[in-house]
Amino acid sequence: MHITEVVLDGFKSFGRTTRIPFYEDFTVVTGPNGSGKSNIIDGVLFALGLARTRGIRAKKLTDLIYNPGHDDGESAGGPKEASVTVVLSNEDGTLDRSQVVSAAGSENVGDVSEITIKRRVKETEENYYSYYYLNGRSVNLSDVRDLLAAAGVTPEGYNVVMQGDVTEIINMTPYQRRGILDEIAGVAEFDEKKEAAFEE
Ligand code: ATP
Ligand code: MG
Repeated sequence: MHITEVVLDGFKSFGRTTRIPFYEDFTVVTGPNGSGKSNIIDGVLFALGLARTRGIRAKKLTDLIYNPGHDDGESAGGPKEASVTVVLSNEDGTLDRSQVVSAAGSENVGDVSEITIKRRVKETEENYYSYYYLNGRSVNLSDVRDLLAAAGVTPEGYNVVMQGDVTEIINMTPYQRRGILDEIAGVAEFDEKKEAAFEE
């Protein structure tokens, strides 16, 4: 399974609907400082529910909504809504139909060779709202999390290596570093279960 497209709409610096294509093997995004490269990754983490607001460089969820006066510390009127859609190719059958149906809580998920996960945040005068959609069906964060976990994508995982992570990994002790390998290889899960069994 891999990302084929990310659509940002009113998210951070993306005031206009912006479609970013991703290739199967390797995609490089280049641009001057502050042009929004990292915001694309923030968008992916936001849509997939993989990071807390701090992890995507915002104090609160509504800071993620496009604001033309952002750099001047001003907040403008106008529509207060942001959305990011992550389109995943499931052509390799990483997830089977029943997993998608169960996460979406509906048979009505269309062709599951393509999975779209969308998140929307809306701000009103009194409050803000966050919505997730799976192939167009409204779902909860836990549904998204469970489905992604079935495909090996988890918040604790190293599917996304953030700026600073590399330095952190270099500064780890060899023992801590092996922990990462255990995590990636899927061994850590069994270690935890083994420990739990011994405790019983
Ligand atoms: P670098 O090369 O320095 O890492 P980058 O291309 O990764 O830069 P980003 O960090 O993605 O840049 O983008 C930062 C820009 O996004 C800043 O100019 C900031 O003002 C803008 N930005 C962040 N949040 C918002 C927002 N809510 N509304 C408008 N612009 C925003
Ligand atoms: Mg950056």
